[in-house]
Amino acid sequence: MTDKRKITIFDTTLRDGEQSPGCSMNLEEKLQVAQALVELGVDVIEAGFPIASPGDFEAVRQVATKIKGATICGLARSHNDDIDRAWEALQHAEDPRIHVFLATSAIHREFKLNMSEDEIIGRAVEGVERAKGYCSNVEFSPEDAARTEVDFLCHVIEAVIHAGATTVNIPDTVGYATPEQMGAVIKSLVDRVPNIDKAVISVHCHNDLGLAVANSLSAVQNGAGQIECTINGLGERAGNCALEEVVMAMRTRPDYYTGDTNINTERLVPTSRLVSEITGMHVQRNKAIVGRNAFAHEAGIHQDGMLKHRTTYEIMRPQDVGFAATDLVLGKHSGRAALADRAKQLGYELNPEQLKSVFKEFKKLADQKKDISNEDIASLIDKELVGSAG
Ligand SMILES: [Zn+2]
Repeated sequence: MTDKRKITIFDTTLRDGEQSPGCSMNLEEKLQVAQALVELGVDVIEAGFPIASPGDFEAVRQVATKIKGATICGLARSHNDDIDRAWEALQHAEDPRIHVFLATSAIHREFKLNMSEDEIIGRAVEGVERAKGYCSNVEFSPEDAARTEVDFLCHVIEAVIHAGATTVNIPDTVGYATPEQMGAVIKSLVDRVPNIDKAVISVHCHNDLGLAVANSLSAVQNGAGQIECTINGLGERAGNCALEEVVMAMRTRPDYYTGDTNINTERLVPTSRLVSEITGMHVQRNKAIVGRNAFAHEAGIHQDGMLKHRTTYEIMRPQDVGFAATDLVLGKHSGRAALADRAKQLGYELNPEQLKSVFKEFKKLADQKKDISNEDIASLIDKELVGSAG
C-alpha cells in the first residue's frame, strides 16, 4: 500500500445532504455532525451555503470557529455578494476554503443564465479572483459539468486554474453520467488542460441512476484526487456518492484501486447512526457497509461456512467499519451449525441428540416468528434439557 495516491475526502453532508427534503438540521446538530466528521477523518467539511439564509450563515460561522482538524468550506455562487458573505462566515477557520460555482452546460447557459460561453468564463474567473483575494484555498465547480461540452469544459477549467483555483470540481449535478463517461471526462482534463497539474481534480456525483459511487471511483482511476460525498449518501433527490461505500471500495480492493483515504473506517457505523438519528432519515436494512443486514447471515449454508472460516462469505470484517461483530441471524433459513454455535455462546453444552431435538423445535418456531431472540433459544433448550432429564 506504499505507493497509494492519497484521495481527499470532501464531505458535504451539512450542505448537499442537508438540502435534501426532510433533512434539515439545527445549529447544535450541525456542530455535532461536524465534530463526528473530524473524528471520522474527513479532510474537508462543506459546512453550508452562507448566503442562502441567516441560519446557514450562522452554522458555517460556528463550524468554522469551533471545529478544528479539517478544512472548513463554504459554498458561493460566482457573485461578489455570495463570495463576500462566504468569507465573512469562514474567516476564523483554521483552514478555510471558498467553493465558487457557476453552471457551464448548454442547457443551463441558455435556459437558466442566458449567458454566452465567453461571459461564463469571464464570470467564473472574476469569482475565483475575488475568492482568492480572501484565501488561498479556492475550489471552483462548473455546475452540470458532466453535461457540458468537453472542449468548453477544458477552457473553463484552464481559465479558473489560471485565476487561482486550487481544486476544480466536476459535478454530475443531475446524476446522468456513466462510469466510463465520467472517467473519460476526467482523462480529457488531465490530457488537455495545460495547467491541470496546478490544481486537484474533484468529482461530485449524484445517485439518480444508482451510479454515484461507481462514477466517483472511475474518476479517481482516471486522475481525480478528491471525492465529494455524504454520510449515508444523503443529498438532493436520490442523494450523493455515499462516503462509507466509496471509502470501503478503495480499502477492500487495494489490488484494484490506486487510491486510499485518511478515513478511520471504525467510525463509519457510529457516524452513520448519528446522522440517521439527527436527520430522521433511516438507513435501509440492506444498505452496503452500514445497513443492519450488511454483516448478517441467515442462510444455513452461509452460516455453516462462516463458522468454519469467515472469509467464505465475508469480504470485510464488521469490526473494521464499526459493527461489534458478525450477526448470524437465527431464522427459518438457518442450519444446525448456527444453532449449536448460539447454544454454546449462551452457555449450553448440547449432545448431538439434544441438538437434533432442539433444532426441530427451533424450525417450528422459526416458521411462525421472524426474529428469534436469545431468550427464545434458551427457553427451547431449557425445555429439551428438562424433558431429557425427566
Ligand atoms: Zn450536489
